Amino acid sequence: MTRTPDPTPAVRRRGLLKGTGVAAVAATAAGSGIAVAQQADTAVRLRWLGTNSWEFTTETATVLIDPWVSRFPTGAYTPEGADPETEIEVHQDVIDEHLPKADTILVTHGHWDHIADVPYLAEKTGATVLGTETHLNLLRAMDAPEEQLSQVGGGELYRFEGGYTVEVFRASHSAGGEHKQITFGGTRPGKVPKRPKKIKDLVEGGSLTYLIDFGTVSFFNAGSASFHEREIDGIRPTVLFIQPGGGYTPDYVERLLAATGYPPYVVATHWDDFDRPLTEGAEIGADWKPLRDRVAAASPDSEFLLIDHLEHHDF
Ligand SMILES: [Zn+2]
Repeated sequence: MTRTPDPTPAVRRRGLLKGTGVAAVAATAAGSGIAVAQQADTAVRLRWLGTNSWEFTTETATVLIDPWVSRFPTGAYTPEGADPETEIEVHQDVIDEHLPKADTILVTHGHWDHIADVPYLAEKTGATVLGTETHLNLLRAMDAPEEQLSQVGGGELYRFEGGYTVEVFRASHSAGGEHKQITFGGTRPGKVPKRPKKIKDLVEGGSLTYLIDFGTVSFFNAGSASFHEREIDGIRPTVLFIQPGGGYTPDYVERLLAATGYPPYVVATHWDDFDRPLTEGAEIGADWKPLRDRVAAASPDSEFLLIDHLEHHDF
């Protein structure tokens, strides 16, 4: 959960989206038959499931980051912000409908809108789950299968069956207010805590960012509007996810673009009202437009992609 400290957009409306069409990986005419086949094999379909929930699909693998589709009302978009006493709901029917499979699940932090559906998803898909000690302890407390949990802390580089690598970087969640505080901050090291019942029980638990590399295309994702500039120095993703807000992280958009080498594509993430059902389509708030404008000003050659709920873009 990253949005509470930032101003809620005053006006929300539906509008047209750009960049949601199919952009098949072009097979270069100059390439050999083999090269073309390899390119086609590694084409990646990127699909948005709201919040920072993304599905990356190739012919041989499915990777999910922060998969969460249960989406119940918390008040996150009211002036008061999310009610910490809100009971966690897991809507298995919604998960089954929208997230049929997974090989690897990446967790950026422990807030409910990133982690609450992961135990059920892990159980049903058999996927490997990467997260911090706290994330994994929270997942254990929600009955996630122990044998699939992989504790990471940043610095790891793993190659997975299916032909992709995942590199993990240390990060911090964005912190707001006079005293630089993280919403539902805290960690749960050591023994597994009591089963989380309310959204406040799902503490942030440290944050991670991920570089997912499929060979022909790579993606860098941070689950909140913050990152560690020196940790990611020199990475060159094809696709960079950026979320609106970030008002408490100085020059968040500009520094992130610079640190990642001004990637060819920028995808807006975590910009929807996640109190509303996924099937309604994203409510386009005013806050993605300043993001688009900042990206255009700082990185004029990057293509800004706005993808609606359940829509996809092929790379
Ligand atoms: Zn969030």
